[in-house]
Amino acid sequence: MNTAEPNGTEANSAKASESWPERESWPEPESWPEREPEPYSGPVALVGVRFIDGTGAAARPATDLLIDGGRIVRVGPTGSIGIPAQARIVPCDGLSALPGLIDSHTHVERDIPTVLHGFLQDGVTSIGNTGCGPQLIEELHDAGRRPTAANVFVAGPAITAPGGYPVIRGDGSAARPVDSADEAKAAVDELAARGVDFIKVTQESFDFDYRSPGRLPVLAPDLIQAVARRAHEHGLPVRSHVHHADQLEAALAAGVDSIEHLLFPLPPETGYVELQRAGRLRLEALPDFARWIDRMVAADVRLVPTLGSELISIRIGLPDLPEAALAEIEELLVEVVRRFAAAGGRVALGSDWVGLPGVPAGQPRQELYRLLAAGLTPLQVIEAATRGAAAVCGRAGRLGTLAPGLPADLLLVDGDPSTDLAALDALRVVLKNGRVVAGRLPAAPATALPSRRLP
Ligand SMILES: [Zn+2]
Repeated sequence: MNTAEPNGTEANSAKASESWPERESWPEPESWPEREPEPYSGPVALVGVRFIDGTGAAARPATDLLIDGGRIVRVGPTGSIGIPAQARIVPCDGLSALPGLIDSHTHVERDIPTVLHGFLQDGVTSIGNTGCGPQLIEELHDAGRRPTAANVFVAGPAITAPGGYPVIRGDGSAARPVDSADEAKAAVDELAARGVDFIKVTQESFDFDYRSPGRLPVLAPDLIQAVARRAHEHGLPVRSHVHHADQLEAALAAGVDSIEHLLFPLPPETGYVELQRAGRLRLEALPDFARWIDRMVAADVRLVPTLGSELISIRIGLPDLPEAALAEIEELLVEVVRRFAAAGGRVALGSDWVGLPGVPAGQPRQELYRLLAAGLTPLQVIEAATRGAAAVCGRAGRLGTLAPGLPADLLLVDGDPSTDLAALDALRVVLKNGRVVAGRLPAAPATALPSRRLP
């Protein structure tokens, strides 16, 4: 989130969420009793399930999946994988299995256990925290290890220029200013020693005053490069907060792994309002844009567009902007993602969740549907929300897909989300590390299942 304080956001966020599908009348996650997951009781076989592995590959019908010791052991066509005699057989006709969702870009800082429980209960088995004070790194990691909480992957403080974003926010502990290459390397070393999962750098010159935009200092290109090199030596991905195209060149030259936001393709000082009034709010105003997109695609730099949060931020920053102008800005933002995806670019899901009133922890539905509106297929949205989000959180190949040896962080839903994303709302069961943490595994054929309400 880019706003300093979410003043008067209730109406805005409620408004923004109204037009998107919401699940049926389930209780809010906060009010659900927190219960310990069922204990391990030997191997479990999901039989006859529609299988979506999170890689973007097409759903496979009638698949069996064996889970044991918290991990996926075997996957194959029904009847082919050799299910041990002692395994609990779970008939999954009509259900789809897919990896637990991952919201890669959040700012969870308060009510941590409750928030992580809320995410998990709604099928988000992991989140990324893209900037917090150093004192929270261990606390977030510990909280995420609890069986009743979503895993948390953290950046710790974002590396930035002295006086740069997000130093202006809060007590400043979520930023780590550096002003030389040696300091940049030392900052990465420190964060790596504290066990962070990825490195975040900010390249933000906008002070988020939309009416009279000012300039914040940003890292020089060679410092971004120093950060990226050192992070990669530690095996950590680098995620750069870039809103404006004027910073994209430096990020790409440094070899960052993802671009977070990239939604205001115009330089900040030009101002949205003036451009909109002048009828110049369009990507054609940026002749280099297509070339940058091509470079991002060629280098396989993921885009984490945080579309919903950007719009809320604009609504807060420009409260008097007419609805038609907001719609025009929204269309511009979606168009960025549309062109990126159309060029073959890969996206990762991130909502920029900060706990605004009316936005409970859970599946970032607005963001999922906005990606769909930007032209991603349901399978591509699922890939962005699983494998893609895992990759930017430093878990490439270790989480976010369903394959033998990987943790059984897994959802069972009614229907087929690979063709109709709304099936993600028909959540039946959530497993974290092979343990049921929401819903119940069906014991009888799907036709005899009780209502979809979780207990
Ligand atoms: Zn953010």
